[in-house]
Amino acid sequence: MFDTGELQAMSDEGLIDALRRAHGAAAFAQAAEVLAVHELYRRRREEGDGADETRAGEYAASEAAVAVQISEQVAAVLIDIGLGLEELPQTRAAFASGRIDLARAQVVVDAARDLPHEVRAEVEPRLIEAAARTDPTRLRQTAGRWVTRLDPEGEQRRRELRESERDVRIKAVREGMAVFDGLLPAVGAQTVAMRLREMSLQVCSADPRTMPQRRADALVALADGSERLRCACDRGTRCTALEPANDRRRPLIQIGVSAASLLGAGDDPAFLAGHGPIDAELARRIAESAEFQVIPERTEDPTSTEESIREDPSLWLDREVRAVDGLCRFPGCTVPAAQGRVDHSEPFDLAHPDRGGATILADLAVLCSRHHRLKRASDAGEISWRTRRLDIDRLQWTSPEGDEHTTVREGARYLFPHTDIDAPQLPWPMPAAAPGTSHPAAVDLTYPLEREVPIHPGLSTAIPEDDRPYALDNRGR
Ligand SMILES: [Zn+2]
Ligand SMILES: [Zn+2]
Repeated sequence: MFDTGELQAMSDEGLIDALRRAHGAAAFAQAAEVLAVHELYRRRREEGDGADETRAGEYAASEAAVAVQISEQVAAVLIDIGLGLEELPQTRAAFASGRIDLARAQVVVDAARDLPHEVRAEVEPRLIEAAARTDPTRLRQTAGRWVTRLDPEGEQRRRELRESERDVRIKAVREGMAVFDGLLPAVGAQTVAMRLREMSLQVCSADPRTMPQRRADALVALADGSERLRCACDRGTRCTALEPANDRRRPLIQIGVSAASLLGAGDDPAFLAGHGPIDAELARRIAESAEFQVIPERTEDPTSTEESIREDPSLWLDREVRAVDGLCRFPGCTVPAAQGRVDHSEPFDLAHPDRGGATILADLAVLCSRHHRLKRASDAGEISWRTRRLDIDRLQWTSPEGDEHTTVREGARYLFPHTDIDAPQLPWPMPAAAPGTSHPAAVDLTYPLEREVPIHPGLSTAIPEDDRPYALDNRGR
């Protein structure tokens, strides 16, 4: 790589040439990564006798994600692109040589993978040529135009197939904000858009909000049952807008917050399930209309002599373990604990804790349904992940390759801030706030993948958040 002095000494031409070479080298590395993760998938699929492609995709995505700390979703899309390249040797060669990068390879794969063989042979070389001289967005338009012209019926079929990928998802960004993202059939998307617009116009003319702000508020109003946008003009009886229905629901969300922060005696961050940290002031505002559950701090495992356990051990432990875990305990997984199920490291009978071993917190961990399945498969010896409890807090995962990853009880870091011993401390008071600046929403720069949904049928469920919830019955493992 260049050092700064070397770059500063270059002519403009030399600098552009260096940029081009660096981009090619990055593409070359991206191709190597795609081919490696695809090979991992191929091995897992073969080990499973090809009986269950979906499981193979899940296991490979989990392994790759943990190995290089990417999301399983990105890992699944990389596998998917690798699968597409199986049928497109010229594209594979152009990608592997660094001639086209990941974003362009993805466009070519998307456009050409499901075409009839003869059509593909015609289109692939032209796409690669176009890819080398156009940006990905234009390339996608060009490819779409060519493919639709050559294969109009197929394009209709593919559109219908695409509709099965409809999806709405949320991604936490920063400063208490989240991206609410979705892929809808065009007509459905327009229906939502028009409804939000209609609601945005139901306020009086003195409402200070911009249209984008009103649309955003309208979407939440649709979900919380008020169905109308409350006018924000603050003019009391002079407001001409209709009041929304008063049967607004309480928040459907869960927040973990320390007692000190809740009471205003501290400002430690709170944990919004499914999102991550939010500031204490926001947590206090939400708490005004919330229900509370008190989670006591435990430095030792509770014993079965405790009153609360005798009363209803399963409920008590279930609630507590979800609160202190916060998230699925698989490395890197972000599924909220409320959506997971409680796994026991040692089999025991929760309904009768007096029989056999007592139920202790250290034996329990929350896993999302997908990683619960992964752990069950490894407990049964079908795959070779291993888990080990290091103490009441830490759970160690060993991948089939022998890499070790430790996860901790994330929720407890929020509920009991003094246990967050890894957090950096400032030995001086916080400097006065810098002027507020606004940055564009985060994009994943490492993997600029345009489409985040795998197309290959065996990979379609390879995202933990997409696992269908099942009955959270901890007695029936
Ligand atoms: Zn008004
Ligand atoms: Zn998980």
